[in-house]
Amino acid sequence: MKKIMSFWVCSIASLLLAQGCNAPATGDSKSGAATAQTLPDEESIMAILYQQRAAEYKALCYQAYNIAEMRVREAVENNKHHDSLAVITDLDETALNNSAFEVREYDHDTTYNSADWEKWCKRGEAGPVPGSVAFFKYADSKKVHIFYISNRDTSDVAATMHNMDSLGFPQVARSHFLFKAGSDGSKQGRRDLVAALHYKVVVLLGDNLIDLDSAYDNQSSAIRNNEVDTMEGKWGKNYIVFPNANYGDWENTLYGFKYTYSVAQKDSIRKSYLYGAKY
Ligand SMILES: [Mg+2]
Repeated sequence: MKKIMSFWVCSIASLLLAQGCNAPATGDSKSGAATAQTLPDEESIMAILYQQRAAEYKALCYQAYNIAEMRVREAVENNKHHDSLAVITDLDETALNNSAFEVREYDHDTTYNSADWEKWCKRGEAGPVPGSVAFFKYADSKKVHIFYISNRDTSDVAATMHNMDSLGFPQVARSHFLFKAGSDGSKQGRRDLVAALHYKVVVLLGDNLIDLDSAYDNQSSAIRNNEVDTMEGKWGKNYIVFPNANYGDWENTLYGFKYTYSVAQKDSIRKSYLYGAKY
């Protein structure tokens, strides 16, 4: 709705300017900006645009999948003991691009909520992250098993499989999809299941660090950052990370994983985490 209003505001402003009226004073602009900030979705625009329009985003995704392919090739060539090799990947914003859902939410003056998300998942309209289908097809061609470990709900498996099958992803079979059952968002139990099947995991891929290692489960921003330093040698080797400026635990941790803050409270918390030059 606000997008329609924006059109009329712009049109009226153009008319006023054409009639020789002064542009709004700085104070008016600021009060307008403050009003816009009361909408929950306003801060998502730049992140959505980055994901949809930045060539740099696309390049980063190709880069990540190129590194993943390199790791798979090395593992296959060095697989002297004929181990069963596997790749573990997250789906959303790692293999599947849900930015169209984010825009849909923006158009409706809202942000992520589970009811809207479930409807989106059931529609099966997510797109592929650049490079994803080609990489997983390559892994499949080398007989590397793919485990799609996602925190989508288990009730979404069928629709997600249909979505991915239509996009050309390989190994779209029920046993390859390990979705979240219940409320436990940790993926460690599901990674343990893969290990228990005696697969040798070549790489793990994800846009959220919990996709890769339980050291990041429900941790503070400070601990997450320290762990990334501690694991410096794993990035691009065992763990492949994808850019997602739109959402993730990097944001959730700022609110202490508390999801009941008001829009204004979240705005205030976000700003409290900024640091800047003092001059
Ligand atoms: Mg994800």
